Amino acid sequence: MLLIKNGRIITLDKENPFIENGFVVIENSKIKKVAEGTPNLDEYAKHEVIDALGMIIMPGLINTHHHAYSAFARGCSFPEAYNKNFTDVLQNIWWKMDRKLELIDTKYSAYVTFIESLLNGVTTVIDHHASYGSVRGSLTAMEEARNHLGIRASLCFEASDRDGKDKFQDSIDENIEFIKYAKEKKSGFVSALFGLHASSTLSNESLKKCKEAESKVDSGFHVHTAEDISDVHDSLKKSGCRVIERLFNYNILGEKTIAVHGIHTNKREHELLKETNTVMSHAPESNMGNAVGCAPLMSFFEEGILVGLGTDGYTSDILESLKVTMCLQRHNMVNTNIGWPQIPNMLLENNREIVRRQFGIKTGMIKNDYEADIIIVDYMPYTTLNKNNIGGHTLFGLSGRMTNTVIVGGKVIIKNREFTEVDIEEIYKKSIEVSKKLWAKLQ
Ligand SMILES: [Zn+2]
Repeated sequence: MLLIKNGRIITLDKENPFIENGFVVIENSKIKKVAEGTPNLDEYAKHEVIDALGMIIMPGLINTHHHAYSAFARGCSFPEAYNKNFTDVLQNIWWKMDRKLELIDTKYSAYVTFIESLLNGVTTVIDHHASYGSVRGSLTAMEEARNHLGIRASLCFEASDRDGKDKFQDSIDENIEFIKYAKEKKSGFVSALFGLHASSTLSNESLKKCKEAESKVDSGFHVHTAEDISDVHDSLKKSGCRVIERLFNYNILGEKTIAVHGIHTNKREHELLKETNTVMSHAPESNMGNAVGCAPLMSFFEEGILVGLGTDGYTSDILESLKVTMCLQRHNMVNTNIGWPQIPNMLLENNREIVRRQFGIKTGMIKNDYEADIIIVDYMPYTTLNKNNIGGHTLFGLSGRMTNTVIVGGKVIIKNREFTEVDIEEIYKKSIEVSKKLWAKLQ
């Protein structure tokens, strides 16, 4: 049992969005009370007390598209890489690297990515994994790291034809086995989707096989869509239709499915996303870094598609991605008057609905009976913060590194920026050792 007192509470609950000075009571894994003022400590004699010292108390943040496996690319040189387009980036960096990943690499990539996510206030990550060096057992290796740290995560493996039939079959088996594990566990901490790399690395026959396998477990998919124009060209060649339409024809879309990017999509495709209630996840920094274009977010919003925010392995600081989303859209459209409040709401409202669909839990709000996924953020606003300008302070004031304390499912994981139980120095030490061996294989 836990009592957090003396904080400014951003609840993200429309009925009561902001409390200037209040407290939150947590029992077991859930929020039991949210109130204004100072608590009577006698009432909470058995509770552990955290004094927020006037900092912000708000719901833990959510990242709806990440790639933990890319962690060890940080600082690594890829000597022969000359990347003139996105296909080269995939072939010369990501596929080259993931073909060398062993289970130990996958496990420690997950460790460091989840640690960074937590340090940036992210309490739930939806990950999209690839490690063609060791397919089977890779999601279990990630799960070990996740479970040790206590973060929530949805995991999947990017099924693809790119490494031949046996590995493709392995990727189906890995997805199915892990989906069954997550379903049986029903913990609310781990969830699973059926991962597909992208339309361009899956034949018609393979898409059919993936759907057949998924229909037995009914998980929904997690798939890159129309990230680069080459994905559209490939889809037209294979099927005579564009990416979203092709996926629709194979019953890949649906309310549990997360389509990522959707940059090179047209109005008809947006209608299909809406008709099927498919989620779209946006990751602007990755899109800019890969020079693939700018997603048509305004059209997604007009159509009423549920658009969430992710980071695509580029960073674990989702607040950084929020800032870039706004800049990129306005820059691209040469229009200062767009994306408000839809863009902040991608993070503050839409991501929690995506998690509800995936995990079947209520999180992302400080409200009675919601999961106690809460962060305390060391942000002292120098202008008025109130119920009407939460989006403005989130966009221009908050940053992930201000996260001071992190609670997931009622458990305090980070307090005053220190992990309470896990020895992260030991994990970082081991990660450097593991990544050195990986880098040696890439030279
Ligand atoms: Zn991605």
